[in-house]
Amino acid sequence: MKFIDLPTSTYQLITYQPTNLSLHPIMDIVCSPEELKLFQLVGDAAAGMNASCYLIGGFVRDKILGRPTKDADIVCTGDGIALAHAVANLLPNRPQVNFFKTFGTAQFKLNGFDVEFVGARKESYTTDSRKPEVTPGTIEDDQLRRDFTINALAISLNKDDYGKLIDPFNGIEDLNNQIIRTPLGPDITFSDDPLRMMRAIRFATQLGFTITPDVFEAITRNKERIKIVSQERITDELNKIMATPKPSVGLDLLFRSGLLKEFFPQFVDLSGVEIIEGKGHKDNFYHTLQVIDNTAAKSDNLWLRWAALLHDIGKPATKRFEDGHGWTFHGHEVVGERMTPRIFKQLKLPLNEHMKYVAKLVLLHLRPISLTKEDITDSAMRRLLFDAGDELEDLMILCESDITSKNKAKVKRYLENFELVKERLKEVEESDKIRNWQPPITGDEIMQLFNLTPSREVGVLKTAVREAILDGVIPNNYDAAYTLLLEKAKELNLAPRL
Ligand code: ATP
Ligand code: MG
Repeated sequence: MKFIDLPTSTYQLITYQPTNLSLHPIMDIVCSPEELKLFQLVGDAAAGMNASCYLIGGFVRDKILGRPTKDADIVCTGDGIALAHAVANLLPNRPQVNFFKTFGTAQFKLNGFDVEFVGARKESYTTDSRKPEVTPGTIEDDQLRRDFTINALAISLNKDDYGKLIDPFNGIEDLNNQIIRTPLGPDITFSDDPLRMMRAIRFATQLGFTITPDVFEAITRNKERIKIVSQERITDELNKIMATPKPSVGLDLLFRSGLLKEFFPQFVDLSGVEIIEGKGHKDNFYHTLQVIDNTAAKSDNLWLRWAALLHDIGKPATKRFEDGHGWTFHGHEVVGERMTPRIFKQLKLPLNEHMKYVAKLVLLHLRPISLTKEDITDSAMRRLLFDAGDELEDLMILCESDITSKNKAKVKRYLENFELVKERLKEVEESDKIRNWQPPITGDEIMQLFNLTPSREVGVLKTAVREAILDGVIPNNYDAAYTLLLEKAKELNLAPRL
């Protein structure tokens, strides 16, 4: 079988070793005694209702792969909500059952573990909506409506065949071969629920699995259907990709399938290389993917990874070819900062302090590297410490991750210079304590001194004091600041209150 080939530089198999499955996989998969006790209760409760029940989906997949699980899905013939209540009633602490009548699903929590119930169903979709027509079905019907063969594995919890693996689509083989494949023809699966295209790429990234060529081609064919899916659900999957150790794998698949362009065209605009007079610039899309991976290797912070994704987003808008000089992207960090809130809104990312944090890092991302030049003064260092504040460490991670080049010697030299900058920043901070520093005279004090109401003048005076201290023109104390204030105030025709 031929697989989609991924760029070797960014792709690495994460190999999970499935246990050697026998006829009774529930004995092989590592369940805790509590889980096993629960599954027996579920079997008993279902038997009392004359129904059959099965563990299904992500729980089965992840147990076989040896990944951690925090929830289990149980599917039964008949009424899933009734089964959930029956099981809850058998449990000593009788957990509260939440249920959704319209979807026929129910859920309760057991010591932080999420247990979900649903009646087996058959689904048929219309072309213009995500809402399927749902009718009761058999376990096989239910498996058929699942997204991927590795997500359609079921384990019986019924007395007569307890622990039997029910695997009509060779999901086990696909798990062993690390393959993402759909139970139905992929065009049907993706057209029925286009979110599954995002999920295919997300699972490929999370698990290090390969999407089969026919499934990948179907994503390419059905990409426009993603428009009927809510942005929140798309972004949920995107963030799951961003949270993996190598987000570039998924981002590249999103790009190459054409899905990315459907919901995030600004990101795609970074791709490509233009050549004028024999001079090209780097492909900023693949450069960005590398920066995201570099950042991910150093930090789990999702928002820092977003800052990496957006750090050069202003480049297409600022790209110029200057004669005799080559390609420039002047001011792309400022344009990128301004684009950040719009992109957050478009992607339904939170418009809160996370957004501000990302915008700030995008704006500042060139600053530390500019300090690697010779003859950098302490005041330039102070300025960065002051501007970055609490975000300094993260900014340094981003900036270091941004050092990418095919030329290994160049990268090595840059990184060495960067280490020197880090050391000097540390020294300046130790002596001047400039991070989280407040100038010795506050805005309130300025208003009192000159009998001012909040106004432009207050800002001008405040900035003058701050800049003079950061530039090292005056020392960092009240008296010096006061003297400077009097001078500046005079220029503005302001007199101090006597
Ligand atoms: P994770 O919990 O890591 O997101 P998961 O596979 O458990 O992965 P869930 O969203 O928890 O994903 O869904 C549980 C199961 O429900 C899946 O394993 C799959 O069988 C089924 N499922 C979920 N979403 C879809 C979908 N959009 N289309 C078809 N089946 C789905
Ligand atoms: Mg799950």
